[in-house]
Amino acid sequence: MALSTPLSQMSVALPTGLDGSSRSMIKVQSISFTEKSRGLLLRLDSKSRSLSVKKRSTICMSLQQASRSKVSVTPLELEDPKETPLNLYRPKEPYTATIVSVERMVGPQAPGETCHIVIDHDGNVPYWEGQSYGVIPPGENPKKPGAPHNVRLYSIASTRYGDSFDGKTASLCVRRALYYDPETGKEDPSKAGVCSNFLCNSKPGDKVKITGPSGKVMLLPEDDPKATHIMIATGTGVAPFRGYLRRMFMEDVPSFKFDGLAWLFLGVANTDSLLYDEEFASYLKDYPENFRYDKALSREEKNKKGGKMYVQDKIEEYSDEIFKLLDNGAHIYFCGLKGMMPGIQDTLKRVAEERGESWEQKLTQLRKNKQWHVEVY
Ligand code: FAD
Repeated sequence: MALSTPLSQMSVALPTGLDGSSRSMIKVQSISFTEKSRGLLLRLDSKSRSLSVKKRSTICMSLQQASRSKVSVTPLELEDPKETPLNLYRPKEPYTATIVSVERMVGPQAPGETCHIVIDHDGNVPYWEGQSYGVIPPGENPKKPGAPHNVRLYSIASTRYGDSFDGKTASLCVRRALYYDPETGKEDPSKAGVCSNFLCNSKPGDKVKITGPSGKVMLLPEDDPKATHIMIATGTGVAPFRGYLRRMFMEDVPSFKFDGLAWLFLGVANTDSLLYDEEFASYLKDYPENFRYDKALSREEKNKKGGKMYVQDKIEEYSDEIFKLLDNGAHIYFCGLKGMMPGIQDTLKRVAEERGESWEQKLTQLRKNKQWHVEVY
């Protein structure tokens, strides 16, 4: 199944000559993701008069080809504000947005379900990469009869231009919270997570109350285009990094150029649980000098001690390089479930000690230099 996110009208710059030398602006009819992979396919209608394409058929171009000639985005005024947009909508007066699409992102062997959800805010709730939206699910708060549910936060998985590249949508990467009785092992739907299930069950056109945007800790520092960004994610923690990487490698933003190193470590259960994998693989192909991508598949791979392969095992594998990069000013980001941090911290501490360094001192320094960014939940 291929999902399609129709776009009103969007421009994309792409090579039209066989050698890719000449460029034209043509209109994009729709953007689609392949079901499992999230690989982006641009379906381009070649009606544009400025194009000298012989066949008036639809050109299908994979992201691999598209990313070299980046996608134009609007409105570029979204680059202008000096201040981060913050809490434009609060829980008492949320913004009512509309669901554009909800797509299951994982394959049949993945434990649990994760959905990619595109929300139309019509440009009214602007945000920057790395921020979160709050969502207020419909219904009554069981702890406060008559009052709405509490806000749940979700990291935004798109850039400020959204998956529609027009600044009107935001995408979320939501894992459905299910409850299994610890004694019987059976699922108990009465205890399923309220908001994640509301979002994953929603349909195009449904209304969703959002707040925010919120959060500054995961904003992408953009002062140095040659900076190194080491991103450590487990599961849905990949959301902010998808936004960063689209900004770095997919979008054509004249005032933002990236020529540093982005290194993503992604931990999930198995191959079927990978999120946005084809999108990331395409950056590897097109920007091998600027992007590295390491996966830890806990239920499929073994670490060197024969145990499950977690992100910290991958970190350990590359610890020399990582420590050198940190010493040279790299930013390091962690996002995902809270439980990921103790194992990672233990590994970093052990590696530091093996190198004759004090992890406590190093961590203090990284925090002081604003190189250390953590958002776990
Ligand atoms: P809730 O209804 O709040 O329930 C919470 C848990 O309790 C569930 O697992 C539920 O099954 C269980 N439960 C319910 N009733 C009982 C009971 N009686 N006994 C025992 N257990 C029970 N999540 C994402 O999926 N993607 C993101 O990108 C993301 N980003 C986040 C960013 C931040 C900064 C933060 C703080 C959180 C983020 N989260 C994200 C988590 C998200 O905010 C929610 O916490 C999550 O979706 C669960 O909310 P829920 O309403 O579905 O579950």
